[in-house]
Amino acid sequence: MAHASPAPAQDGPPSVDVAANLAAVKAEVQDAAGHAGRDASEITLIAVSKGHPASRILPALAAGHTTFGENRVQEASRKWQALRAEWPSAVLHYIGALQTNKARDAVAVADAIHAVDRPKLAVALAREMDRQGKRPDCFVQINTGAEPQKAGVLPDDLEALLAQCRDDLMLPVAGLMCLPPAAEDPAPHFTLLRELAARHGLERLSMGMSADYRTAIALGATHVRIGTAIFGARPAP
Ligand SMILES: *Cc1c(COP(=O)(O)O)cnc(C)c1O
Repeated sequence: MAHASPAPAQDGPPSVDVAANLAAVKAEVQDAAGHAGRDASEITLIAVSKGHPASRILPALAAGHTTFGENRVQEASRKWQALRAEWPSAVLHYIGALQTNKARDAVAVADAIHAVDRPKLAVALAREMDRQGKRPDCFVQINTGAEPQKAGVLPDDLEALLAQCRDDLMLPVAGLMCLPPAAEDPAPHFTLLRELAARHGLERLSMGMSADYRTAIALGATHVRIGTAIFGARPAP
């Protein structure tokens, strides 16, 4: 589009008031929980800091927030080794697709892993948990939209994967996670996730992002993963 006068040049990314955004999101979570007749204390807000530098994360830590999400193992290890030295109460959720050869580093860095979606990865995670004597909560990711390019087990294959995870590998499976197709109404996907969890006796539901967390909370989310609404747009990788 042609403009009469160009926008003024800017030095670096626009400033973002992370503490104010965080407070606003927390208020919104409270409000959504109230509307759904739920207690907001049942809902964990994962502040998704992937792609952002430590300087952008520090205001959230300083405001007392402890739970964060990252989706790349190397980035998470690099950033959080330093941040945790100063903020030892920080809790890190790994929320990205996970390659089997990264299982060791994922178990080392994460307190919860929302990416279990196939037998080979489950075996690798169980082996690492035994080796490291550490048992991060696991969420099984479901490909609720059966999208060919997306991570996650298909709903029809969940029962077999869960049996392997729980009965054979003794993985600490806490719940289910989904990432609905971008162009669709997320509500049917959240409902499906809730039904699958109920059918398999799982209590935790990791669903809802910046654009749809109110809907997710109305449909039973126990963990919402919110990045942009707190930290602003992510810089290009
Ligand atoms: C990036 C990401 C989020 C956060 O997305 P926003 O739209 O920035 O809130 C949540 N979940 C997963 C799995 C992600 O990769």
